[in-house]
Amino acid sequence: PYNGPSAGEILAKRKDYLSPSLFHLYKKPLNVVDGKMQYLFDDEGRRYVDAFGGIATVCCGHCHPDVVDAIIKQTKRLQHSTVLYLNSAIADFAEALASKLPGDLKVVFFTNSGTEANELAIMMARLYTGCQDIISLRNGYHGNATGTMGATGQSIWKFNVVQSGVHHALNPDPYRGVFGSDGEKYAKDVQDLIDFGTSGNVAAFISETIQGVGGIVELAPGYLPAVYGSIKNAGGISIADEVQSGFARTGSHFWGFESQGVVPDIVTMAKSIGNGIPLGAVVTTPKIAVVLTRRSYFNTFGGNPVCTAAGLAVLRVIEKENLQENALLVGSYLKDRLMAMKNKYEIIGDVRGRGLMLGIELVTDRQEKTPAKAETLHVMDQMKELGVLIGKGGFYGNVFRITPPLCFTKEDADFLVDSMDYVMSRM
Ligand code: PMP
Repeated sequence: PYNGPSAGEILAKRKDYLSPSLFHLYKKPLNVVDGKMQYLFDDEGRRYVDAFGGIATVCCGHCHPDVVDAIIKQTKRLQHSTVLYLNSAIADFAEALASKLPGDLKVVFFTNSGTEANELAIMMARLYTGCQDIISLRNGYHGNATGTMGATGQSIWKFNVVQSGVHHALNPDPYRGVFGSDGEKYAKDVQDLIDFGTSGNVAAFISETIQGVGGIVELAPGYLPAVYGSIKNAGGISIADEVQSGFARTGSHFWGFESQGVVPDIVTMAKSIGNGIPLGAVVTTPKIAVVLTRRSYFNTFGGNPVCTAAGLAVLRVIEKENLQENALLVGSYLKDRLMAMKNKYEIIGDVRGRGLMLGIELVTDRQEKTPAKAETLHVMDQMKELGVLIGKGGFYGNVFRITPPLCFTKEDADFLVDSMDYVMSRM
């Protein structure tokens, strides 16, 4: 049993000592005290099916014993900065991680977060090309430091920083975008930005391969091959942000970019990489990696032994427990059931995504696609009361995000859909 402070006491401390910008998802905030695989438990011992996975940060399952074990073992031996001496944890994990990537993507830089990974990727692109211009997508999210905030394409997440050199392209959003599912038409906008908004040369194009924060938006088919071609012709490099879509989540592939049949020049990752432990990485080619030898490059904790030991355990669990296969199987089953729900409820405007990265967009009018913001909040809150946690996102806050740990089962999927069905039937 839990003997710690109550939700009320924690809320009071948060109010006094933590950032006033913190928010919580539910009317009655959830005090989570334990996690086990795809389940979370609150201070009263109530179990919740976790279909959000701490924003896709947990891939193996909460407190997966193999990952916990790796962390404890390494913590007892040594935890320090990665920079000064040799240690096998970082080297072993780098080797294992590189083996999951195609082509020349072999050199790994570890960071502590997704923001740091994208900042580093953007800087490397600028160093490598000698150009400043970055093209990113409207509705994308890449982090909250100055460079990544510039690349982020949503006013919701942007503070008023100097945003130098960033151009935001039309979002290839099959549901809301002007060209529907025609990826090549959207790609033309990137070529236009290069032709009319830059000298003709650019540093990089950066995008998620499935937008997470933006409301689980799969890029229209054919988009990335066309854009990567334009970027290459303009002397730039392509950066795939796999912070949410990587690590087997999409089921069909290990990385999101593979579903578009492209190979980026730089891949960034975080979240699932450590199953909840703070860790991020940039993987690139030897040719690009060499730019960081021009000065001293230093990251105190990036790739420290404890986090990299966790990362290696994560890769082993994904393999041992066939989590990619499970993401495909359970994800497809869940998507089919959600599609069937769409036929039942007018409010469901769109069901999308792949594997265990699914989105459900709620609208009050299917023709106008009017965002059903209040209804989204209501359903989310009621589902929590029934014992199911889901996320929400999208520019209008009207898209459910379903990104559970990859050990999610068909029974969990049924419970999720039945709960949503029950709540919607009462609206
Ligand atoms: N890229 C993507 C696609 C993300 O979803 C996020 C976090 N939501 C980030 C980058 C930034 O990661 P972090 O919060 O670890 O800095």
